Amino acid sequence: MPLLNPYQVQLGLYRDHFPLLQNARNKNAIHYLDNAATTQKPEILLQATNYFYKNLNANVHRGVYQLSQEATQAYEGARSAVARFIKARNPSEIVFTSGATESLNIIANWFGHEVLDSKSEVIVTMMEHHANLIPWQQACSLSKARMVPWTPDENGNLDLNILEKLINSKTKVIAVCHVSNVLGTINPIREICALAHQYNVTVVVDGSQAVPHFPVNMEDLDCDFYCFSAHKVFGPTGLGILYGKKEQLEKVMPFRLGGEMVEIVTFESATYKPLPARLEAGTPNFAAAYAFSVIIDFLKSITYDSIYIVEQELKAKMLEILDRIGGFRILGNAEEKVPLFALIPEKMHPHDVAQVLALQNVAVRAGYQCAMPLHRYYGAENGSLRVSMAFYNNQEDLDALEEGLKKAQQMLKG
Ligand code: PMP
Repeated sequence: MPLLNPYQVQLGLYRDHFPLLQNARNKNAIHYLDNAATTQKPEILLQATNYFYKNLNANVHRGVYQLSQEATQAYEGARSAVARFIKARNPSEIVFTSGATESLNIIANWFGHEVLDSKSEVIVTMMEHHANLIPWQQACSLSKARMVPWTPDENGNLDLNILEKLINSKTKVIAVCHVSNVLGTINPIREICALAHQYNVTVVVDGSQAVPHFPVNMEDLDCDFYCFSAHKVFGPTGLGILYGKKEQLEKVMPFRLGGEMVEIVTFESATYKPLPARLEAGTPNFAAAYAFSVIIDFLKSITYDSIYIVEQELKAKMLEILDRIGGFRILGNAEEKVPLFALIPEKMHPHDVAQVLALQNVAVRAGYQCAMPLHRYYGAENGSLRVSMAFYNNQEDLDALEEGLKKAQQMLKG
């Protein structure tokens, strides 16, 4: 299938590239609105994966034979493609992991073991996904450091004036998401980093919900670490990206130890390779890395500008729907947000609403969205109903959602 130009994207032709969205399920196509959990895959990803296993499959960095060298080239080529994609200064600043969760664990584990002590403080926002919260809990418990919450306002915005009051000479790290997977808020990472760096504080950014929606630029943001998962960016499962500024990443203690990350090994000891190998013990997911490099080209052909236009429209339509039907409170009304809506239904349980929607072939998520403290903070004790969109969603998806929400109100409110 030929790649698309921006004009075609705005006409909605891009949807044809996603086979699952064309599948008839119970004679009805699925209305997939759970993109924050994972995104659907374009045909080109399946082709790239197929191509790799048919033509390039051999373990990387190990063989002197041609095939292994070609596999290595494809893998390292993917690393360079990711570096260009997020404007890292050097490919060695990109570490492939199994996902955002592993990336964040690597950093927090290092902090817990080697950086923090009983006098340290760690600022974590109240809007973090458990993947950027629990590893810090463990790091603090290990080192006896103190966790300091940075809470958002009633609209879901983080206030830099509050951060300024929280930072002090004990602060070692700020853990913050670029985009909240509940509120949809786009946080001011550049400004957070500028403030943090005045105090020599490291900033760890969870970009999982940002990269599917807008371009990210490491040089511009100036964060110390940035993490995301390929599967949320139309790419393969089992692949994560950990970006770190070279001078910071070099200090990180390897979380996993084993083959391919070592230089000289004696029975009692080992010396580690330079970056990025020292943080990639064992066989990496090289096929996924190659496939993700193809997705990067796919995104380039679509352009983030087009994605932005489509998503702004989806967001506006969603607000119209909620206005029309009433009875759903939105968690997070930041000016700057992605098309993601966590809803608190009036007099209905989010799970019950999700169940009614499922019967209409509308896929959304109900629960705490792996952000239980945030739901408690906003008094959403039953969790929320999350509608999260991607650029391939269309009017039919929104119509089905609206019908489903109305049906839920008729059935459940009595
Ligand atoms: N952070 C955020 C903001 C997320 O939305 C998610 C996925 N729900 C993660 C981290 C974890 O990603 P993964 O499960 O792919 O490791």
